Amino acid sequence: MRKNYLLTPGPTPLPPQVCESMARPIIHHRTPQFQAILKEATEGLKYVFQTENPVFILASSGTGAMEAAVANLLSPGDTAITVQGGKFGERWTELCKAYGVNAEIIDVEWGKAVDPLEIKKRLSANPKIKAVFTTLCETSTGVTNDIEAIGKIIKETEAVLVVDAISGLGAIDIKSDAWYCDMVISGSQKGLMLPPGMGFISVSPKAFKLVDTAKTPRYYFDLRKAKKAIEKTDTPFTPAVTLIIALNEALEMIRQDGLEQVFLRHKKMASAARAAMKGLGLALFAPDAASDVVTAVKVPEGLDGEKLVKTMRDTYGVTIAGGQDEMKGKLFRIAHMGYIEEFDIIAGISCLEKVLAQMGYKFDLGAGVKAAEEVFLK
Ligand SMILES: *Cc1c(COP(=O)(O)O)cnc(C)c1O
Repeated sequence: MRKNYLLTPGPTPLPPQVCESMARPIIHHRTPQFQAILKEATEGLKYVFQTENPVFILASSGTGAMEAAVANLLSPGDTAITVQGGKFGERWTELCKAYGVNAEIIDVEWGKAVDPLEIKKRLSANPKIKAVFTTLCETSTGVTNDIEAIGKIIKETEAVLVVDAISGLGAIDIKSDAWYCDMVISGSQKGLMLPPGMGFISVSPKAFKLVDTAKTPRYYFDLRKAKKAIEKTDTPFTPAVTLIIALNEALEMIRQDGLEQVFLRHKKMASAARAAMKGLGLALFAPDAASDVVTAVKVPEGLDGEKLVKTMRDTYGVTIAGGQDEMKGKLFRIAHMGYIEEFDIIAGISCLEKVLAQMGYKFDLGAGVKAAEEVFLK
């Protein structure tokens, strides 16, 4: 017998009421019964996205919604800025390339946030830029970007702002409307406490103008179809019925706590995780822009980072994430988003300490757990 703890940046643990809701018999989607469910889901998403704009639910992972953004906003030969400070920023560049869009890349050192003034500079230098693709929380490095500041810059231009909030939504603040975000994208398996399988995308009137004129071929992800359907509380294709039912359970939990409370909880979990790393003498990967979503930590010199993650998972059932691409083996990431509370964090840190000790890393046993508990006692 072994109990599993999931502290990864997606999928995240599922609350029992979410699991229960998915065990119900399936219903047909072209029915008043499902329409009521869809309406509730769409309204609930607007609350979490902090928007008055429509939020579309796609049956895809988060990347499908990212692809929908590129395919619906732009035409081949258009130019767009991509902010690239990690694996997910790079995905924007790759998507642009796949659709024949010229990506004007802003290369940000991994572990740092983008300087909004750099975006301003590029936009003034090239008024033809149609879109700016950014990331709220760059999950690969644990960095949060200043979307509010970027939004203020974009609103003065013709360009639209697209934010990948796949890991940040429902965990940290993203005021889609107040921060002038034209498209905000998310996925089900992160802060929203659901299994993978749904992508979400909000679309502002400014973005809809581009959607209506873009020449990129599109079919399944055609947001014009999605817009027409949602006006009749419908979806163009078979929606992920079971996942939408589960979404309403998760949205209800978020509503009951209130967004402010949800953000405070994430802040507390993140503070405890960061304090624990300090207590263990470990260095954060992004000390200046650390997100409250996932904590990225440098693997100490001489230690095998991949083995650390593997031992925690395979021997003790505590799953954290390693580094991706160029950071493979060099960092590990402890996620604290979604259905995570203080004793999940304590369990994760306790396991980390155990494996670090076994691997010969020198520290005061219990120092990480103690530092986290001190944060929780405050
Ligand atoms: C997880 C994640 C993605 C990828 O989402 P999928 O659901 O795996 O397609 C993209 N961007 C960010 C910031 C993420 O955290």
